[in-house]
Amino acid sequence: MGMRDHVAIITGGGSGIGWAAVKAFAERGARVVIADWNADEGRKAEDAVHALGGEARFVAVDVSQPESVAKLVETVLGAYGQIDILINNAGITRDAMLHKMSYEAWQRVIDVNLSGVFYCTQAVVRPMRKRGYGRIINTSSIVGRFGNVGQTNYAAAKAGVIGMTLTWAKELGPKGITVNAVAPGFIRTPMTAAMPPDILQQMAEKVPVGRLGEPEDIARVYLFLADEASGYINGAVISVDGGLSL
Ligand code: NAP
Repeated sequence: MGMRDHVAIITGGGSGIGWAAVKAFAERGARVVIADWNADEGRKAEDAVHALGGEARFVAVDVSQPESVAKLVETVLGAYGQIDILINNAGITRDAMLHKMSYEAWQRVIDVNLSGVFYCTQAVVRPMRKRGYGRIINTSSIVGRFGNVGQTNYAAAKAGVIGMTLTWAKELGPKGITVNAVAPGFIRTPMTAAMPPDILQQMAEKVPVGRLGEPEDIARVYLFLADEASGYINGAVISVDGGLSL
C-alpha cells in the first residue's frame, strides 16, 4: 500500500501547491513528473527533489494544448512505462468584474483550468484503463462551489472541474480508477501573493481556524487520495479551507 515507485504526474508542479505536492510525493517514494510550462521553476523543483534524494523529472507542458499534453504522456510512458497518478493542479486567474471581463480573459482561464483538466485526463486514462489502475485528483476551488466577485471565468472553470470529477468517477470506477476533487480555500502561494496584505488579513480573519492555508495543507489531501489504500473514495469533493465555506 502507499505509493512507492508509483508514477505521479503533477501539473503546475513548479510552484505553490503543486511544488508542495511534488516534495510530499517524492518523500514517499513516488516517481514524480513535474509537468509545468514554467521551465525555470520546473528545473529548480527537479534539482531540489534530487538534492533531497527523491526521484523527479521536469517535463515542459502547456496543459491547454492537447498536442503538448500528448507529448507529455508519451515522454512519461517512454521513461517509466506506466502512469499511476495524475494531479490536475495547474491553474491561472485573470480576474475582472463581469461587465469588464475580456473574451481573452474568459477564454484563457477556461482553456487552462477547464479544458486543460480534460486534455490531461483523457490522455492518461487510456494507459490507465489498460492497466486497470489509476488515481486522478482534480483541483477545484471554494470559488467553484460558492462563486466569487470578479471571478466569473475561474468560478465557471472550477465548477466545471467538479462536474467532470463526478462524471469520471462513474465512468472510471469500474476500471479501477478513482477520481476525486479537492476544493482549497485561500492558500498562501504565488497565485494569492499578488493580493493586497490587508485583504489577505481580512480573509484570514474570516476563516474559522484563524489563518490562511499553506500549500502543504492541500498536498496532504492529494497524498491521501492518491494512496493505493484510498480505493473506496471515488467522486468526493473535499473542501480544504479551514471552515471558510461554512
Ligand atoms: P501557482 O503558485 O500559480 O502555481 C501554478 C503553477 O501552474 C505555476 O507554476 C504555473 O506557471 C503553472 N501553470 C499555469 N498555467 C499552466 C499551463 N497552461 N500549463 C502548465 N503549467 C501551467 O498556483 P497555486 O496557488 O499553487 O494553485 C494551484 C491550483 O490550486 C490551481 O489550480 C488553483 O486554481 C488552485 N487553487 C488555489 C488556491 C489558492 O488560494 N492559492 C485556492 C483554490 C484553488 P506560471 O507561474 O508560469 O503561470
